[in-house]
Amino acid sequence: MNNDCLFCAIAAGTIPSVKVYETDAVLAFLDISPVEKGHTLVISKRAHSETILDTPPDIASELLAAAKTVAAGMMAAGFGGVNLVQNNFKDGGQAVPHIHFHVIPRAKDRHGPLVWASGSNPYADDAERNVYAERIRAGIEAAQAPLPS
Ligand code: AMP
Repeated sequence: MNNDCLFCAIAAGTIPSVKVYETDAVLAFLDISPVEKGHTLVISKRAHSETILDTPPDIASELLAAAKTVAAGMMAAGFGGVNLVQNNFKDGGQAVPHIHFHVIPRAKDRHGPLVWASGSNPYADDAERNVYAERIRAGIEAAQAPLPS
C-alpha cells in the first residue's frame, strides 16, 4: 500500500469511511460526493495500483467480483438499476489515482443513461446517508443469503 494515497488510508481505516461491504481483500464505501444517492466505491485492501493498466489480474478480478456483490445487493435492496463506472487517468476523469469501481444505484423512476455530475445528489444529512448505507448493507446480506431449501 502507499502512504501518500487517500484510498490506501481509507482501506487501512486511518481515514474514516461509511462502509457497506468489506472482506480481507476489498472495501466498499459510500462516495463522499454522490452522483446518485447510494453511490459506492470499491477498492482493494491488498495492493495499491493506480489504473486498470497497472492492476494485476487477480486484484482486478477481486474488485469486479466485489462490485458485482454490491450491485446485486443494490438490486436486492429495491433499486431499479445499477451503473458500474471505472475511470482511468486524468483525461479519463480519474481524480483519485488508486483503482476503484464506482457502483451507482439508480432509483426506479430515474430511467436512462447515467449523467455523471459529481456531487449532484448530496445527502440531506448524515441520517439520510446512513439510511442508504444500511439499505445497501441489508441488500448485500439478503443477496448473499442461501436460498431456503
Ligand atoms: P474518480 O474521479 O473516478 O477518481 O472518482 C473518485 C471519487 O472519490 C469521486 O467520486 C469522489 O467523490 C470520491 N471521493 C474522494 N474523496 C473521498 C472520501 N474521502 N470518501 C469517499 N469518497 C471520496
